[in-house]
Amino acid sequence: MSWRKLLPRPRWLPRAALMHPQRVVIVGFGLAMLLMLIVGARDLYLLRDRVLSSRQHDLTLRALGGEAVFAAERSKLVFVRDYAQQLITLYDSGVAPTDPAVERAFAQRNDPVWQMEVPLGDAPVVGAAPALLDELEGFDRRDADLRADLYAARQLSHVLGLSLRLRDGKDADGTVSYISSNGLYVTYPPLPPDKAPALFRRFSDISYYRDVLPERDSSREIRWTRVYTQFESTQLRTTLSIPVYVADRFRGVVAVDVELWRLRDLIGVPDDAGTTRYLMDYRGGIIASSQHTVRIDMRWPDDVDPAWRSLPVQELFGTGAGIRHVDGQYLIYQPVGQRGTWLLVESFSDGDVWRAVLQRTSAPLLSIWLALPLLMFVTLRVVTLLFRHYVEAGEMLQRLAETDPLTGLANRRHFGEAFGRESARRRRESGSGGGNGDGAIGDPNAAPPDASSGAPFSMLMLDIDYFKRVNDRWGHASGDNVLVAVAGVLRRNLREADLPARLGGEEFAVLMPQTTLADAVATAERLRAAVQDTPVAPAPDAPPSGEGDGRIHFTVSIGVAEAVSDDCQTLDAMLAMADRRLYAAKQAGRNQVCAADAPAGNTVAQTVQG
Ligand code: GH3
Ligand code: MG
Ligand code: MG
Repeated sequence: MSWRKLLPRPRWLPRAALMHPQRVVIVGFGLAMLLMLIVGARDLYLLRDRVLSSRQHDLTLRALGGEAVFAAERSKLVFVRDYAQQLITLYDSGVAPTDPAVERAFAQRNDPVWQMEVPLGDAPVVGAAPALLDELEGFDRRDADLRADLYAARQLSHVLGLSLRLRDGKDADGTVSYISSNGLYVTYPPLPPDKAPALFRRFSDISYYRDVLPERDSSREIRWTRVYTQFESTQLRTTLSIPVYVADRFRGVVAVDVELWRLRDLIGVPDDAGTTRYLMDYRGGIIASSQHTVRIDMRWPDDVDPAWRSLPVQELFGTGAGIRHVDGQYLIYQPVGQRGTWLLVESFSDGDVWRAVLQRTSAPLLSIWLALPLLMFVTLRVVTLLFRHYVEAGEMLQRLAETDPLTGLANRRHFGEAFGRESARRRRESGSGGGNGDGAIGDPNAAPPDASSGAPFSMLMLDIDYFKRVNDRWGHASGDNVLVAVAGVLRRNLREADLPARLGGEEFAVLMPQTTLADAVATAERLRAAVQDTPVAPAPDAPPSGEGDGRIHFTVSIGVAEAVSDDCQTLDAMLAMADRRLYAAKQAGRNQVCAADAPAGNTVAQTVQG
């Protein structure tokens, strides 16, 4: 479309951008969305890392909290152990005074079950007969040590009872027991004395006593006993224990019970339903779980997510804190306890992480991103509407600028431009150069270097004969009808390549590319005849004719010029040549074609009647 040639030509923008502004909008918004997508994706990944590290951090804090609790239990254990060792050592050295309660208990020492009298509120001290003890591993009656052991038990009963009283007896958690290998124990809550034999049997069987015996473990370190069912109860608990040695001889065990609900509180309940937290011991025993009710025999790897079944728990203990990712499952772990006694483990899926990421995603950013396509759509609509409007307006202006409003033919300006283009084309084709190369408007008066060469190119010039009379007789509006009729004849009788134009008034011209003078004359003759045979109805305001057929009969005279043979290749030269011949045709009597400086020979005809 030629009006687009009027668009500006910015250096920094391809011309196509101005021709297709919608594409510019789409590309612009597309780029913005892509950039936001890249930035957003990067942010999501950063956010994921932040979610993971915050979970790790949270687990570390929890482990620290757990560590504080365990440290308290451990120091309680060590304190009681040290106190027991000191008391026994003290008695062994003969420093301790004689205690009647100890003496009375000593006297009963061979009863099947016996108790030391203790003040109200102190923890009961219960003993068993040597006969029972002989059957049990880890127990044997040594009378020589018994006074010292009773003395220590007497003091410990007060201390342990005190700690219970301080807790107001509200919960039995953290219960500390002292079990002497000499066949007595100090423990809480009080059990009926007839349970004592069963309890001794259990001590001898249970890990927290049995597994710290010198022959089983010489390390004298604190031992962690896996989850077990409390004596004569369904309560689950776990126990920390440490052996008591005096002068290198094993004298008993101090044990601290930890209720499982307390550990469960410690590991907490994750906010996320898909996340499970475990507290495990070195051998893979699960001591607490945020999801499942802990059983006695709950173990790694059977009771964890299938993704971790092939991961040996020792490997986790070996590396300290860390994070693993397998089959869409994350595992973060954190040791609790100085010697890596326990491990706090959290397992969750990719989905949980992305859910957490989405919860933290900035809502404004997301809504801007979602708004972009909408904005693009609106912008596109506006640009399309405006662009279409201006394209149509431009086309209309172009048409108006090139067309004669009355006849719809090309005007003089368009005729001149078309002539210039045709001349440029001919110059290019004749190989003599000189055109401006882009088919744009050539200078209509630029003469080719060799005027006699090139393809034939003709021009007609038409003038209505005695047109003034038409106006005078039929009125100006009817004269206009005649002009329109001539345009119609021209349109109907010319080739596609020919360009008819109204140069002004009642003067018409036709540009005929690739046309010899002879062909042009033939066409002119056809036009002349056609006009003659095209009477026009007068306008409604025309005065009644009263004669003839009531229609306007008129003729044209035509002058013909050809560029090569007439050696006139500029617009002005051709127009002048054609005009001269038109004048000659008029002179020769009108209604005829003149293609030479003498009339072609047609006789003058009566052109206007009435
Ligand atoms: P000739 O055969 O010598 O050409 O005689 P003519 O009457 O046609 O001569 P002339 O050129 O003197 O007259 C042209 C007339 O055309 C004058 C003018 O009134 C009329 N004319 C010019 N433009 C228009 C137009 O747009 N409409 C009408 N109706 N008449 C026009
Ligand atoms: Mg005239
Ligand atoms: Mg005329």
